[in-house]
Amino acid sequence: SPVMASEKEAALTATPSDAPTIFDKIISKEIPSTVVYEDDKVLAFRDITPQGPVHILLIPKVRDGLTGLSKAEERHIDILGRLLYTAKLVAKQEGLDEGFRIVINDGPQGCQSVHHIHVHLIGGRQMNWPPG
Ligand code: C5P
Repeated sequence: SPVMASEKEAALTATPSDAPTIFDKIISKEIPSTVVYEDDKVLAFRDITPQGPVHILLIPKVRDGLTGLSKAEERHIDILGRLLYTAKLVAKQEGLDEGFRIVINDGPQGCQSVHHIHVHLIGGRQMNWPPG
């Protein structure tokens, strides 16, 4: 049936959530990015499709199964805290003294498109609530 066919097509074209992502190539510098902060555990770089004057992604250099926040385990507590703390440092570095927005998209309804956890740091304009 057409339904079966489209379901099969979706299954065949879906990227497995544990497959390598574009962020691996950004971490290895195989793909250039504008890095704004880097240490041994975290990389922060400018989003290629910025949603504000400042839009930075913070990612763990080692994914360790953390494809998204919904996959977090106790072993990820340290890196999760480090990502948020680093977001605060980068916000300061970017001069976002009037505030900023932190976003972690998760899963299809959260509009997650890259399966390597990332924290969005967006600022430099007035944000709205509720989000889209
Ligand atoms: O939360 P979500 O998974 O949708 O975010 C992925 C983000 O990665 C997007 O904001 C997209 O613009 C960004 N991206 C990027 N460089 C790439 C691929 C995606 O900055 N090469």
